[in-house]
Amino acid sequence: MQRITILGATGSIGASTLDVLARHPEKYQVHALTAHGRVDELAAQCRAFRPARAVVGTAEAAQRLAQLIADLPVSVEYGAQALCDVAASPDTDTVMAAIVGGAGLAPTLAAARAGKKVLLANKEALVMSGQLFMDAVKEHKATLLPIDSEHNAIFQSLPQSYARQPGASGVARILLTASGGPFLNRAVDTLEDVTPEEACKHPNWVMGRKISVDSATMMNKGLEVIEAHWLFGAPAEMIEVVIHPQSVIHSMVSYVDGSVVAQLGNPDMRTPIAHALAFPERIESGVGQLDLTQMASLQFHRPDYQRFPCLALAFEALRDGGTAPALLNAANEVAVQAFLERRIGFRDIDRVIGRVMDEIPHGAASSIEAVMEQDARARAAAERAVAGLARA
Ligand code: NAD
Ligand code: MG
Repeated sequence: MQRITILGATGSIGASTLDVLARHPEKYQVHALTAHGRVDELAAQCRAFRPARAVVGTAEAAQRLAQLIADLPVSVEYGAQALCDVAASPDTDTVMAAIVGGAGLAPTLAAARAGKKVLLANKEALVMSGQLFMDAVKEHKATLLPIDSEHNAIFQSLPQSYARQPGASGVARILLTASGGPFLNRAVDTLEDVTPEEACKHPNWVMGRKISVDSATMMNKGLEVIEAHWLFGAPAEMIEVVIHPQSVIHSMVSYVDGSVVAQLGNPDMRTPIAHALAFPERIESGVGQLDLTQMASLQFHRPDYQRFPCLALAFEALRDGGTAPALLNAANEVAVQAFLERRIGFRDIDRVIGRVMDEIPHGAASSIEAVMEQDARARAAAERAVAGLARA
C-alpha cells in the first residue's frame, strides 16, 4: 500500500488524483487531504476516501469540517504548520503537491526535506526556489516526479538513467509544447478588453482559474520553462517553446543524433498523475486511448512574443537568475488575482509584472527566508502597480 497526502485535494489536480486513486483501492491509501476553503467538498472527499487527517485554512473552516464529519475518525487540523506536518508525516509515503501558487512552497519543501516521493503539480514552488528545492530533494533523497503534463512528457522522453545533465545523455533540446491558450488567434489589439470568463475558457484543458489565466497570457509556459530548467538541468538556450494548438503531443526531447522522442495522449491530467503514482510501473487512469486517425492535423509554430509578453518576461527572469523568478511569480499571482477581480485589464497583467521586475533589485536566492522576503516585497510592489493602473 502506498500512503498518500494530497495537498490541494479540492482543486482540479486534486480531484483528478482522487479519480485515479479510486480506480486502485488495493494499491493506494489516503493519509491526508487538504483544502483552503470549500469545506463541503472536502467533507465529501473525507467520506469517500477515509483519510486519517484533513487540513483546512482557518479555525472556522476546521470547526465546520469537524461538524460535517463528526461520525468519521478523521483528525481535523488547520493552518500552515498543519500543512507541513501532513506533508512530512512518517505515515505518508507520497505527497501530491497540488496547492496553487506560492502558498504551496512550504509544505512541498517539507515533503522534500522528509524524503518523500513528491508528485509536483505546484510549479510555482519550483519557480520561486528552484536551486534550494532541488538541493533539498538531493540532500534528503526525496523522489521528485513531474505532474505538469509537459514535464511529465519530457521525463518520459528522457532515458531512465537521466541525471539532470542534458549533454551527458545526448540531449540537444527540450521542446516544450504550448497550446497557445484561448487567445492564440484573437486580434492583438482586442486583448485589452478580454474578460476573466473568456480568459478562463481554455480550448483543451479544464483547470483552476489561476493557471487558466496563466495559459491565456502564456505566463504558464514561461513558468514551465523555468520549471524545466530546474527539473532537467537545462539552460534557457536549450529550452524551446513550440505552439501546438491540439495539445496531443505533450512535449518532446531532441537528441544530437537527430532523433526526437515525444509523449502523446489525450489532454487529460489523469495520465501524468497515474504515470507518476505508479512509476516505474503503469496503471489504468480512466483516460481513453488516443485515436490518431481521428486527428485532422497536428500543427506547430513559433510563439509570438508581442502577443505573449509574459513569455519573454519569464525567459528574462530565468536568465537573470537569483530571486528574479520569485519576483516574477509573486507579481504574476497578484496581477492575475486583480484581473480575476476585474480591478485591472488583461494586458495590465504583463505591465504589473514588468514594473515589479524593474523596480525591485534582484538578489541571490540564498535561503528560503531570502526568497520569501523578496516574494513579500514583490507582492507589495505589485499591489501598488495594480492600484496605479486601476486609477488610470
Ligand atoms: P485549483 O485552483 O483548482 O486548486 C487549488 C487547490 O489549492 C485547492 O484545493 C485549494 O483549496 C488549494 N489552495 C488554494 N490556496 C491555498 C492556500 N493559500 N493555502 C492552502 N491551500 C490552498 O488549481 P489547479 O488547477 O488544481 O492547480 C494546482 C496546481 O497544479 C497549480 O500550481 C497549477 O499550476 C498546477 N497544474 C495544474 C494543471 C491543471 O490541469 N489544473 C496542470 C498542470 C499544473
Ligand atoms: Mg503544463
